[in-house]
Amino acid sequence: MATNTRVAVVSLFNYHGYGVRLISGRLAFHKIDSRLFCFKRSTYTDTFTWEEVNEFTNLILAYEPTHVLMCVHSPVAPIARTICSIIKIRDNKIRTVVGGPHPTAQPVECMLWADDVCVGDGIRVVDHLADIEYGCDTEDVFYPAASKRLNDVTNLPQLRYSEDDVCFGFNYYDEKMRTNRVSLFTSHGCFYKCSYCHENVVKKRCQKYSVTHKSVDEVMNDIAHMRRTFPLVKEISFSDHIFTFNSDWVRDFCAEFKRTGLKFRCFGHFNFAEFEALDAMQRSGLNCISFGIQHVSATMNKITGRHTPKHVILDVANMLKYLGILGRYDFIRGLPGETLDDIKELNDFIRQLPKPHVIRNFELRYFPGTDITEYALDNGFITEDQVEGLTVRLGDWSYNYTNY
Ligand code: SF4
Repeated sequence: MATNTRVAVVSLFNYHGYGVRLISGRLAFHKIDSRLFCFKRSTYTDTFTWEEVNEFTNLILAYEPTHVLMCVHSPVAPIARTICSIIKIRDNKIRTVVGGPHPTAQPVECMLWADDVCVGDGIRVVDHLADIEYGCDTEDVFYPAASKRLNDVTNLPQLRYSEDDVCFGFNYYDEKMRTNRVSLFTSHGCFYKCSYCHENVVKKRCQKYSVTHKSVDEVMNDIAHMRRTFPLVKEISFSDHIFTFNSDWVRDFCAEFKRTGLKFRCFGHFNFAEFEALDAMQRSGLNCISFGIQHVSATMNKITGRHTPKHVILDVANMLKYLGILGRYDFIRGLPGETLDDIKELNDFIRQLPKPHVIRNFELRYFPGTDITEYALDNGFITEDQVEGLTVRLGDWSYNYTNY
């Protein structure tokens, strides 16, 4: 390992960003000098000016890093481009490395403004840094091992939070003392490839793709670690794509989680919604579970790549009501080619969902490289300039309605 390696890890609009905190943990594991720089807390609550971007870049440069690793999401890609460009102008020796959803979807475009582009799991980049083996083995300058999907989630480092974190647009101590819900993952990957989702892109880009699970013991260690970091935590929000995919694991998890006295929420899937598992989850502290429905008309389901029959959705929703679990249902509005009949069919269906429930209507965003974006471009529903990544788009992407 190079003793003078000094890494600035940058998160633009996600203070609790899982990927960057894992990377920070891995850097610490390898004893590489690093610091996390977070620009703003969240796209849901914050905005920005270009003067602030400049000031934030100055803070990164003042740290005198040898490498800047940045997680880039398409709606804020122009900010990442600007920061990398300023860094190269100010100190050409600093290596800029980008990863995350946008570089995975648009690696060639990212190569125009970053030194190295990570496709897939960025955690491998850190291992390369530690071994000083990183580099390229293809014309496209991707990290070789990073182009494979991480297939082992065991022994991943714990998310690293540090008092040295540089929080540009907010206060570290305020954040620490007001956080009562933290997000964790227990698994990696998804079995599906819905047309609008980033997993759709990852499956196309990564040579190796698998779905893996942490052990219950590892998850309980992660929870204990987060409780030490955030003393006011009352609830864990599991951000796995599908928390319920392994019912044996869920049963073992519930037995352990119950002892914590905490509440939790998670994402489910209609193909993995067994009564016994949901019942055990409710008894161990589950208070809300989200399901992606997106649409229900046959033509729109063909566009999204989701095909759950309406009666299956209603059966699960009624089961949640019976068990006293709040169901949160996600829909996408404005799918390409959606007709007034499709909208009416969807609205009629929503009225059949048992109450109470939370309805979240998401505005469709065209992320680069997804099937739905290619379909919309090919069929003239959108033009290239409407694909995320060219301009900054912040804000809350969903609208919630709670019906009691
Ligand atoms: S089930 Fe969810 S995470 Fe998996 S591909 Fe579909 S939208 Fe993405």
